[in-house]
Amino acid sequence: MITTQQISDLLNYKSTDYPVVSFYINTDLRHTTIDKIRIVAKDLIKSRRDEIEKSELGHDQKEALKKDFEKILDYVNNLIVQGNQRGLAIFSNRGGQFWQTFSLPQKTKNAIIVDPDPYVRPLLGILNQYHRFCFAIVDRRKAEVYEYYMGEIMDITELFSADVPGKVRIAGWYGLEEKRVMRHIDHHAQEHFKRVANFLFQLHSVRNFDYFILGGQSEYLPEFERHLHPYVADRICERIDTTPHAWDINKIKSVIQETESRLNNERYNQMVDELITDAGKGNRAVTGLDGVLKAANIGNIRLLLIEEDVVLPGRECFSCGYLSRDEEVCPVCGAKTEPMDDLFDEIVENTVNYNGSFYQIPKGTKLSEHGGIGAFLRFNA
Ligand SMILES: [Zn+2]
Repeated sequence: MITTQQISDLLNYKSTDYPVVSFYINTDLRHTTIDKIRIVAKDLIKSRRDEIEKSELGHDQKEALKKDFEKILDYVNNLIVQGNQRGLAIFSNRGGQFWQTFSLPQKTKNAIIVDPDPYVRPLLGILNQYHRFCFAIVDRRKAEVYEYYMGEIMDITELFSADVPGKVRIAGWYGLEEKRVMRHIDHHAQEHFKRVANFLFQLHSVRNFDYFILGGQSEYLPEFERHLHPYVADRICERIDTTPHAWDINKIKSVIQETESRLNNERYNQMVDELITDAGKGNRAVTGLDGVLKAANIGNIRLLLIEEDVVLPGRECFSCGYLSRDEEVCPVCGAKTEPMDDLFDEIVENTVNYNGSFYQIPKGTKLSEHGGIGAFLRFNA
């Protein structure tokens, strides 16, 4: 699982005198094969290695970069593409002494960048689309806590308070005894709730969750929630009736995924509605391929919405980057344009290069009625 720590390590990484290699490759096995992935990696690295060889970098830097390249190639040659992995990002520096890999749930553009800093924009473009969940299941004596991010789940810990009596078994003759026992349980349960609440807050301050899902029985969940820190309480997106140890990890994962997809659908539908409304009013938004192309060609896309798995061939001018459906001569610089397999992919790349971001929208929203593409703009063109 990609941890918050890993992301912040990467973002804060500074290489003083050796360039960082940032490597991205598409590993979507629905559209490519493992052999092709290896060939693409080898070609990318070879061309960059030749350039580096001819460059003015010092001997030590060149040697370190060679080791970075070798390590990346080794990694790709031994890569096993897991279930829903569609892309891979690798960052290497000082001959692989700094080394990070990210398995991504979306395809990425193949690229290798050698630069003083890690090239993180495409990675962040993907990571920004996913939320980090914490699922805490509590009862009056136990708690189970899970972290979920980008399709992966991790059992964080199990808290167990052995000193809480299970049930009230003895009812005193006068009812007095029962009251005393109830209070006793209450006190212990409250202490347990407090500890769990405190644990979640500590965990949140490190993991920075976007959402919390609470599991528990409705009769005591509100009691537990009273102990939650506002930072945690404000992020509760779902309450589910269950008890600790009732479900195995696969069931827990699927419960979180249902919540995730509900939240995503709400968010995507809202974004698409806003886009269509703004575009209708001419308020810094466009829908449909032609409007988006026009905006892309002047670096005017702030946020691109693009429907999943839409592919359309097009043309690109390699000398100035102009994109079009079918213009063979670039109207900007006059160069001959080249055919591209996937124009949508090029628009995403263009957006990211101009510091815009993008969301892949699942099929089934109103975006489909607008050619599967639209964009919020920086200014009215
Ligand atoms: Zn051009």
